[in-house]
Amino acid sequence: MRQSTERYTLADLQRWEQLCEDSDPPIRAGVFGDPVAHSLSPQMQNAALRACGISMQYARFHIRPGELRSALRLVRKLDFVGVNLTLPHKRAGLAQVDEADEFAARAGAVNTICLRSGKLIGSNTDGEGFERAIRSEFAVPLRDLRIMILGAGGGTGRAIAWQCALENCQRLVLVNRTVEKAQMLAQELRLFCNGKARPGGATWLEVIEWEELAMEAQLGKIDLIVNATPLGMNPSDVLPVPAGLLASQHAVFDCIYQPRKTALLSAAEQAGARVANGLSMLLQQGALSFSIWFQREAPIDAMSKALPFRQ
Ligand code: NAP
Repeated sequence: MRQSTERYTLADLQRWEQLCEDSDPPIRAGVFGDPVAHSLSPQMQNAALRACGISMQYARFHIRPGELRSALRLVRKLDFVGVNLTLPHKRAGLAQVDEADEFAARAGAVNTICLRSGKLIGSNTDGEGFERAIRSEFAVPLRDLRIMILGAGGGTGRAIAWQCALENCQRLVLVNRTVEKAQMLAQELRLFCNGKARPGGATWLEVIEWEELAMEAQLGKIDLIVNATPLGMNPSDVLPVPAGLLASQHAVFDCIYQPRKTALLSAAEQAGARVANGLSMLLQQGALSFSIWFQREAPIDAMSKALPFRQ
């Protein structure tokens, strides 16, 4: 097998046939992001392709925010099987697909695009991937949890919030730097849940400002804290939750998996909380994407072995 290079760009897609004529097997899937160098999706998806004997490769594409439309137009012409979208393309991706499934339309975000008869079909596997990850990491279903989501206005945070609401979680507290985005999401969730009995009664869903006092007032009534912001990817980032607010009653899930232990997870561990990084979510959402592209069950053991879970 002749391996794909570390990462491609829009300019590479524009001269793809010439650039990749020697790629063996051909690259016909990939992940679009900015940044994308940290993504572990290629090693996981390539392991799945090998395990299933599918003769193609999955590569990393550094696509900047203004380039998504052109990049998708090119993969459509180049007959790709599909792509994943990651930070910051999930929200913008919804406007670029020809059709979106029900969950992606609700979440307002797409993380998986499948090409069918020349059409771009958008899905979102982050919600279900998150639900499976929480079950495997903390052995508890979402319906039993009071959950705070930091970054609830982003593509991932919105998908997670919808999944929590659909699973009838006990309470949901939405936090976002731009509070209006969380308020808009809360309005959509309330409309959807209108009239349905909720475990937490009238206060099952709350939106709070991105500030310490507001978080402190809520965290005594929260079981699971989810970081769905990119805060923690860089060593200079501030903590999304002040360390002094973390306690042993909390489970803390950081969607970030690179670095494996973010400053948030270290602080939470020191406070006696249970912690998990985003590797299990990466695995589960990736397995669901694979099933969408190839209409078969994903070889989850091979995918898991390709990830650095135990390093
Ligand atoms: P996105 O759509 O761009 O959303 C980013 C979110 O983070 C927004 O809510 C944004 O708030 C917030 N944010 C960004 N910078 C911030 C800052 N300096 N302070 C406070 N809030 C900030 O990104 P995304 O695709 O949802 O990805 C979010 C994170 O989840 C990334 O780290 C990504 O790698 C990770 N992720 C992991 C997995 C997995 O499988 N493990 C899957 C998906 C995503 P505003 O609305 O105010 O801008």
